[in-house]
Amino acid sequence: MSLSFRRLRFLLALILMLLVSAYGLSRLGYFEWPRAYDPLVLPDLDAASNFLTPFKLKRIDSNAENCRAAFARAGKAVAIEPTRIDTAQCSKQDTIKLANLSTATLNVEETRCAIAARLFMWEHNIVQPAASKYFNEPVTELLHFGSYSCRNIRGSSAASEHATANAFDISGFRLRSGKLVTLKQDWQGSQPPAEFLREVRGGACDYFNVVLSPDYNADHHDHLHVDMGWYRSCR
Ligand SMILES: [Zn+2]
Repeated sequence: MSLSFRRLRFLLALILMLLVSAYGLSRLGYFEWPRAYDPLVLPDLDAASNFLTPFKLKRIDSNAENCRAAFARAGKAVAIEPTRIDTAQCSKQDTIKLANLSTATLNVEETRCAIAARLFMWEHNIVQPAASKYFNEPVTELLHFGSYSCRNIRGSSAASEHATANAFDISGFRLRSGKLVTLKQDWQGSQPPAEFLREVRGGACDYFNVVLSPDYNADHHDHLHVDMGWYRSCR
């Protein structure tokens, strides 16, 4: 038993050593390490997610320049807007004007770049695949109620994540045929639009700390709230 454990430990150490050596050689330019599995490069917003994505996204959260660079790499040039402080609780910092996701567009909205990057990855990895599964056509527009709003959480004295543009309210989706799928009209039931909305709600929880849907409370009957506050909730 102890021998096999020692063998296992040796084998793991060997594998780790080989991986570290291979990674070192790749950094020296001997071969190309796959970007998706390189912890030192920023996430590709238009690529599939993997176990390193949350770690890579943290580098975007803590550094707006990294976030801008990730958008540039995905072929969408964005600029970090100047910081503006409205009140003690309400300010915009590290925001961009978001108008394009990987495929869909949206009415231009200023939001924290970290939120925008997650919306981009969610749209690419979750929303579009779900749209082709349920409707056989892509989403061409993300409908929303905006990001920045200087207010408290309803019924509370705590500032909303909207007060720092660290949240986004999604109200629905326009498909290529023009068909609209909205949280307000289509959440209930078991028809394809309802299934689609539940799938994209569930998938949003992989990218955002907080996702609140019509299941949460009546305040959210017509939108999906997503944010990157410290709290974690998927409802
Ligand atoms: Zn909200």
